[in-house]
Amino acid sequence: MWDAISEKLQDAEKIVFVTGAGISQESGIPTFRGKEGLWRKYDPMQLATIDAFYQDPKLVWEWYEERRRNILDAKPNPGHLAIAELGKYKNVHVLTQNIDSLHQRAGSKNVYELHGSIITIKCTVCSFKDKITTGFSQLPPLCKCGNMLRPDVVWFGEALPQDVWEHAMKQASTCDIMIVVGTSLAVSPANLLPVYAKQNGATMVEANTDPTPMSDIMDISLRESAASALPRLVNIVSG
Ligand code: NAD
Repeated sequence: MWDAISEKLQDAEKIVFVTGAGISQESGIPTFRGKEGLWRKYDPMQLATIDAFYQDPKLVWEWYEERRRNILDAKPNPGHLAIAELGKYKNVHVLTQNIDSLHQRAGSKNVYELHGSIITIKCTVCSFKDKITTGFSQLPPLCKCGNMLRPDVVWFGEALPQDVWEHAMKQASTCDIMIVVGTSLAVSPANLLPVYAKQNGATMVEANTDPTPMSDIMDISLRESAASALPRLVNIVSG
């Protein structure tokens, strides 16, 4: 299996990673659907929808503030660092469903956040958007226009940022290798990206501790953790 990856990696010009919560699990950030997944303790419909936000904005904000503190304390793990390192040798694009900015903190350059970011906020009414620099004196925080600010993340039922999605589709459709890491591929439309890559003839690689609904379309499945599998890819390219 590693011989097959080795040849493909060496020949590849463009490599696209599609990442999910699993890649950050070894940084101490819980996934959504695994054994310790966040959704086992909380009902997402009470916390990650626009209706839930308008019903109880303080509760939703408290949950995101706690997650944001945990995420800021976390550090990129060898999986994130390996993707950044591969970017020194190949044209690498990272299409992530994560909101934790660990790819950027690891040094990756072409990172596209399909589901937004927990470190930015936006107004529910006007076009204001900014990075969160300190905590808030009150929850929910208010915009200068007087309306509520909200986390700049994509909630269930919301559309992805269009420019990010268009870029993601373009990269998925034109890559030589797609490497899908730590995602259950349960969330649409992000789970269409492997389909676009496959349709356009990319070599498909999956790094996931468990099978996913798209394991069948993979050419190579690495059934191990991201922090263990991805550094080996760097060794192939750099060695
Ligand atoms: P998910 O929880 O549905 O699936 C996680 C996947 O990762 C599973 O298939 C699991 O088998 C695999 N996995 C667990 N540990 C792993 C490891 N160490 N190495 C490799 N694979 C591992 O997550 P998802 O598919 O990303 O779900 C999508 C939603 O989850 C997105 O909307 C995303 O915004 C959100 N999310 C993000 C974060 C984050 O930013 N870190 C955390 C939790 C959830």
